[in-house]
Amino acid sequence: MDDKLRLQDLDPLFKEEVAREPGCQHLLRCFSCGVCTAACPVSEIEPDFSPSLIIRQILYGLRRPLLSSPALWHCARCARCSFQCPQDVRFLDIIQGLRHMAIREGLVSAARAELLEQGEGLIQELRRRLINRILADPAENPDPQETLSRLIKEMDNL
Ligand code: SF4
Ligand code: SF4
Repeated sequence: MDDKLRLQDLDPLFKEEVAREPGCQHLLRCFSCGVCTAACPVSEIEPDFSPSLIIRQILYGLRRPLLSSPALWHCARCARCSFQCPQDVRFLDIIQGLRHMAIREGLVSAARAELLEQGEGLIQELRRRLINRILADPAENPDPQETLSRLIKEMDNL
């Protein structure tokens, strides 16, 4: 997302609208502690993705820049942020609400959202198989990269 804050991008009603999405009613409890971002495994490898920053952008009213941002689709839905939030803000529900809004407003097509969901499902499946393969290795020294390459080829042949 563009770092510059433009007045015409600000929508003061955006936060109330997000808070009306299912499960998002605790949005305004956020006090910007950053625990969600510190707990997020995606933020660790994707520095442009930050749950606490997304909440601030909602509170600032950055409706269009946020709803059209690829960041919305980076969340892997592991729920760590929701479990660790001291204010029970439930970021996982908030990201889901933002995704629904982006689809409703035509900023991403339902077909593309479906593809992103399918891709996420494949990644989860790959992760599950990688863990099982490593745990099942009798020698306890499989090369994770090689194992991953083999698993990708196996999944290709499904
Ligand atoms: S952990 Fe909760 S209160 Fe803290 S920044 Fe994240 S959402 Fe806000
Ligand atoms: S649910 Fe999404 S935002 Fe929350 S910790 Fe997991 S990947 Fe990060």
